[in-house]
Amino acid sequence: MKIYQGKGVYGAVAIGKISLFKKPEAAVKRVRIENTDGEKSRFEQAKAAAMDQLQEIYDKALREVGEANAAIFEIHRMMLDDDDYNESINSIIESQSVNAEYAVAVTADNFAEMFSAMDDAYMQARAADVRDISNRVINNLTGNSSVHAGTGERVIICAFDLAPSETVSLDKDRVLAFVTAHGSSNSHTAILARNMNIPAVIGAGDDFLNEVRDGCQAVVDGFTGEIFVDPDEDTCKKYLEKQRADEEKKRLLQELRGKENITLDGHRINIYTNIGSVGDIGKVLANDAGGIGLFRSEFLYLENSDFPTEEQQFAAYKKVLESMAGKKVIIRTLDIGADKQCDYFNLKKEENPALGYRAIRICLTRPDIFRTQLRALYRASVYGSLGIMFPMITSVSEVEKILEICEGVKGELRAQGMGYSEGIELGIMIETPAAAVISDRLAPLVDFFSVGTNDLTQYTLACDRQNPDIEQFVDTHHEAVLRLIEMSAENAHKHGAWIGICGELGADTELTERFLRMGIDELSVSPSFVLKVREAVRKIDLSK
Ligand code: PEP
Ligand code: MG
Repeated sequence: MKIYQGKGVYGAVAIGKISLFKKPEAAVKRVRIENTDGEKSRFEQAKAAAMDQLQEIYDKALREVGEANAAIFEIHRMMLDDDDYNESINSIIESQSVNAEYAVAVTADNFAEMFSAMDDAYMQARAADVRDISNRVINNLTGNSSVHAGTGERVIICAFDLAPSETVSLDKDRVLAFVTAHGSSNSHTAILARNMNIPAVIGAGDDFLNEVRDGCQAVVDGFTGEIFVDPDEDTCKKYLEKQRADEEKKRLLQELRGKENITLDGHRINIYTNIGSVGDIGKVLANDAGGIGLFRSEFLYLENSDFPTEEQQFAAYKKVLESMAGKKVIIRTLDIGADKQCDYFNLKKEENPALGYRAIRICLTRPDIFRTQLRALYRASVYGSLGIMFPMITSVSEVEKILEICEGVKGELRAQGMGYSEGIELGIMIETPAAAVISDRLAPLVDFFSVGTNDLTQYTLACDRQNPDIEQFVDTHHEAVLRLIEMSAENAHKHGAWIGICGELGADTELTERFLRMGIDELSVSPSFVLKVREAVRKIDLSK
């Protein structure tokens, strides 16, 4: 047995097999092969497996997000079966006597280049699709298919780090735990693990990744950050016990379902939840959340290989609103950029992407993308109680411009005889110090504020949330951050707006009382934290 130490970012215990997540591009090497027929049949098998996986994903997507969103997987199956694509791979294997992985990678590059060079925007976007299907085949060839396939046992995903675009490709039903050699506690991988309610350890180190093997047994303790590889019998027994005790504690929390979020002295607060996809709604309902305080709509874009159309987005938003049956649903407009990179946006590489071209800055300079999303949101609004919020705000003029665009979209819909709700609430995220400092001027323009403490902490403390080397300098309870939140709360209330917190700090129960005393009206947390925060609220007495 070998023990490794990382940092636990979601407390739970997992026991299972390790599956190494390799980045396909890095894994492909050119290898000389004598038996080219054998190599061709390896390709055929990997391709057949990819066809099955795509069919499963299509069926799952059809059930969860509807036909329009599922259609892309049908297109992927057709591309994989394309004669030219298959002929190219077989001919590279035959003529160059090389391994199938290499032939697939070269074909992917050639086809992607060819698509990118076409005039038609639709065809250009197929470049990302051909890379996507090729990566799937390569994953199957290299035995790295476990997280992409739809069947089989659940595994502990071990990776160098995981980008949001990689996590969306994982079959979440098959992930037992995440362990990354690098990464930071505020990264979207950590947030995703909390959303998924599975143990996660980051910063396990390069030795860990170099030494573990695919398929070996491990125990992951997300409370302490320990990972036991090839655990002995006593360790397994001890951790099975710890797992049982933790599950029992979570089961007891379930008794708070249906109870109010009310302090001992009768003060009520809303506890909502953060989600990244329509598929998370089951967890929202299972944990008895009062609404959705943050739907990270950019994951719709990350899951796609091209800009999601108005119809695709409309179907997704409608589904969330209908499933929540009249409870509040706050959808955040596109927050792409920084660590959330999406190939087909073709964003330039930046020196400081967190300070760069991201979120509302993209939306305000790409009105085509922004209007498509707003049209879908406004159209979907008639199916429930919608709030729309805008990320990364720094100035009054940005908000004025946004409101003008919203008015334009409403006028367009009216002219086309399309309905929308008059009751939509419009809000902004307070996640830059600038927004907090001028919150007195922003509050009169909107219905609500939602504090994004992940970014607000990063920008206030000048600590890149993606950089694990400076975590020791990130004091999540830093007085500067808390005062900015307090200032925003005062200004919101002065102007009749309400204020929530949707960053990870909202789930920190050491701060719940302080937040309530500031007058925070809503806390939006990962689904698995809803009942824990409710428990904390119900123990607080604000009259003391
Ligand atoms: C935040 O910054 O706190 C937030 C909720 O947004 P994200 O984590 O998606 O950047
Ligand atoms: Mg943010």
